[in-house]
Amino acid sequence: MKYYSLNHQASRVSFKEAVIRGIAPDRGLYFPEKLTALPPSFFNSIRSLSKTDIAFRAISQFVAGEIPDPELESILERVLDFDFPLVKLDEHTAVLELFHGPTMAFKDVGARFMAECLGYFNRNSDQEVTVLVATSGDTGGAVANGFLGVKGVRVLILYPSGKVSEIQERQLTTLGQNITALEVEGTFDDCQHMVKTAFLDQDVTERRKLTSANSINIARWLPQMFYFLFAYQQLGQSGKELVFSVPSGNFGNICAGMVAHKLGMPCRHFIAATNVNDTVPKFMENQVYDPKPSISTISNAMDVGNPSNFVRIRELYDDKFPELSNILSSYSYNDAQTRTAMAELQEKYGYVADPHGAVGYLGLKKYQEEHPDSQGIFLETAHPIKFLDVVKETLGVALSIPPQIEKVLHREKVALPISSYDELKDFLLNS
Ligand SMILES: *Cc1c(COP(=O)(O)O)cnc(C)c1O
Repeated sequence: MKYYSLNHQASRVSFKEAVIRGIAPDRGLYFPEKLTALPPSFFNSIRSLSKTDIAFRAISQFVAGEIPDPELESILERVLDFDFPLVKLDEHTAVLELFHGPTMAFKDVGARFMAECLGYFNRNSDQEVTVLVATSGDTGGAVANGFLGVKGVRVLILYPSGKVSEIQERQLTTLGQNITALEVEGTFDDCQHMVKTAFLDQDVTERRKLTSANSINIARWLPQMFYFLFAYQQLGQSGKELVFSVPSGNFGNICAGMVAHKLGMPCRHFIAATNVNDTVPKFMENQVYDPKPSISTISNAMDVGNPSNFVRIRELYDDKFPELSNILSSYSYNDAQTRTAMAELQEKYGYVADPHGAVGYLGLKKYQEEHPDSQGIFLETAHPIKFLDVVKETLGVALSIPPQIEKVLHREKVALPISSYDELKDFLLNS
């Protein structure tokens, strides 16, 4: 299996090279050259399989033997050592909880899998790889946790000072070892800009092997398809048409779900639910892709004005709009609507959702107005504790702090303040 660049200038590469590079030299995202459907027997007997079995069958063709099978199995065993429960709210509605991992947002699986792959590929090399990542909150914690102690890998996390929650900051600044947090005086866009500048700076790339741990990296993106298969497994036969509503920012998660569908998972439709950052909902309305600067919202992990993985979704359907719109709808919601949905979930079902999950719920309900007989699943992508203040303000409930979070709150924050690209460069080259 080879991967090609969606900019079509760079040459095809193996899984290993795509993971190590992160992004192609022509700045395009990597995409698998072939998707082979799994046999119907896999889906018919999915209830009898373990999580590791399901994940192994789904990801094998993408890894294509570059990690030996027994090693890949034990990697998946470690990556998936927590639960992904599907909670039924009523006859037509269920929520897939993706927050039971170590950092309590859904990015743990992708971050852990990528860390394991890099660790494996690097096992006999003495050239260190530097993972450079900008975070608006959740990515940093998941990446720090996933890469902690991985041999031959050094991780630099750039985050905007004062713009992440206290819990998020603790998760990415307290681990030490091979993880360094750089506290940037500026916004998330400034952090991302510094990272992009480093990737284009020859002084740096000639002397350091850089890679990215954002969802552009195939090893972070592809394993997210497991979630949809785990949901399908737990649902059992309902006789109804299955639809997934996915709170979306960079569109990596939903795109991975659409890959699962291409692999043969029976399901009727996907809904990409966004906050007011509505580039994709607008595109689905008028077929004009018009990226904009991001707008801050209470579902801040989705504050993305130019979603990087949307090109992959278009590629999956050969950029044919009728085919795409047959499988995908996209709706946008503002903060007031999000808060109302949080209150509705609490009143109707006694379910406390975080703002991202609530946006997913809204997307599902809208679709079901016209498809009342469908079986809907929305994804709850973060534990409400990660958005403690919003939940408290909106629902008036105080949440108890889970042990994963309690643990980091007592550790000491260590971060290096920086305010310019030159400081980042100096750190990259001289430390
Ligand atoms: C990252 C994130 C999202 C958005 O996921 P994408 O794959 O970027 O679309 C949604 N919710 C939460 C809580 C996140 O951390």
